[in-house]
Amino acid sequence: MGLKMCKKHRSLCAEAIQKRGLSHLVSKSQSEAVKRITADMNSKVPTRNYDPMLSLVMTIHKDTVNFSFEGNKLVKDKKNYCPLCLVEQKNSVEDCQIRIDSLADEIYQMCEKYSLQG
Ligand SMILES: [Zn+2]
Repeated sequence: MGLKMCKKHRSLCAEAIQKRGLSHLVSKSQSEAVKRITADMNSKVPTRNYDPMLSLVMTIHKDTVNFSFEGNKLVKDKKNYCPLCLVEQKNSVEDCQIRIDSLADEIYQMCEKYSLQG
């Protein structure tokens, strides 16, 4: 895999989730995350298994592959790139934060719609 979010940007994502009061939905461990994704796989609407942090990180990865830079090439590369470091390099630190915040807002709205936020 050529994309892996760095520590700094993971913590910025975690902060964005926390600011929106969704931390209680975030998996405490990798194995919990895997279990929850598997449990949620067949449901059409998000359930209590929905993990906003995972969703945020995955969306950022997916967007990078789909829309920006040489996404597909990066995925095949042996070296790992952080998708948000790439945004910082190509655009700016500010753009990067805007991106995290707007995605986190979308996630919040979705959680609200399905009453997962409380
Ligand atoms: Zn990064």
